[in-house]
Amino acid sequence: MLRAGLLWLSEQPHISRFVRRNGLAQKLASRFVAGETVDSAVAALRQLNAAGITATLDLLGESVRHAAEARAARDLYLATLDLIERAHAQSHVSVKLTQMGLDIDEGACVEYVRAIAARARDRGSFMRIDMEGSAYTERTLRLFKQRLHPEFGDTVGVVLQSYLRRTEQDVRELIALGARIRLCKGAYKEAPDIAFPDKRDVDANYIACLERLLERGNYPAIATHDERIIAHAKAFAQRQEILPSRYEFQMLYGVRRDVQQTLRREGYNVRVYVPFGDQWYPYLMRRLAERPANVAFLLGSLIRESLRRN
Ligand SMILES: Cc1cc2nc3c(=O)[nH]c(=O)nc-3n(C[C@H](O)[C@H](O)[C@H](O)COP(=O)(O)OP(=O)(O)OC[C@H]3O[C@@H](n4cnc5c(N)ncnc54)[C@H](O)[C@@H]3O)c2cc1C
Repeated sequence: MLRAGLLWLSEQPHISRFVRRNGLAQKLASRFVAGETVDSAVAALRQLNAAGITATLDLLGESVRHAAEARAARDLYLATLDLIERAHAQSHVSVKLTQMGLDIDEGACVEYVRAIAARARDRGSFMRIDMEGSAYTERTLRLFKQRLHPEFGDTVGVVLQSYLRRTEQDVRELIALGARIRLCKGAYKEAPDIAFPDKRDVDANYIACLERLLERGNYPAIATHDERIIAHAKAFAQRQEILPSRYEFQMLYGVRRDVQQTLRREGYNVRVYVPFGDQWYPYLMRRLAERPANVAFLLGSLIRESLRRN
């Protein structure tokens, strides 16, 4: 109930405008978002890199409605890739197609994404296309398979979501292509004919896809904070004699930092997804929806902090 309410709130533009101006909400967001500027994102990268953890930067913003917003997002990604190189930081970028204007002008969107992919390749980096709601799955995978993967090979990758019923088939097809895949559970509100409504099925599908990717995939990214799945991945890889250098774990900025550090100490590759920018409202609401206990946790830590100050 609370989860559905938080996901509904994440999609309300008027509430977003109101909340983004609110100082308390900005403080809450800072747990999960590196900051509003690219410099704050690079500062977060430096801290992670110093702990041996790599990153992928995400400029927050999706479903843009004006062509100028899509162009501005493209330009900021290009500048971010330049800055990552100048800072000698270990980071990729993650891009959403609706932020590049997929809903406004698909042709321009493809050109913008190609420009970012080319810059990532030229800077020795990598671009991941994030996966959005199921209305975009087919278009995203088509663009990836027909345009991006043939042109940019291993310097681009895509995301699959284990809550979708189609994903096992997509895993097979993308493995056959040799594509780089990030596997996550999926963060959007979906209908039961498209996505498994029962979390046990989402997790079981994750494990089935994960095993296939570890055995036959091209440097898969295991994106989860689920300790049971992480333990399964480690044990499966060990049994199949798959070296830790052949895959990586990925987690979100500010989520289960303890697990991030433990995995790193154990010698696994760990990459953290670092969001930045002023469009943080829907992202924050999705993180709260994933774990409604976060609402109480974040409010509690804010109250404790303000009591200490007074
Ligand atoms: C690197 C990365 C990239 C992602 N990219 C995408 C994408 O492109 N498209 C997409 O739809 N989704 C994406 N996601 C989000 C993903 O789909 C899930 O919504 C999210 O990761 C929560 O699922 P989980 O696998 O951690 O498992 P869950 O079963 O949701 O959680 C397992 C445990 O992890 C911890 N946990 C999970 N979430 C939180 C949180 N917000 N705060 C605190 N603790 C938490 C809790 O201890 C929880 O019990 C991404 C996730 C990661 C880590």
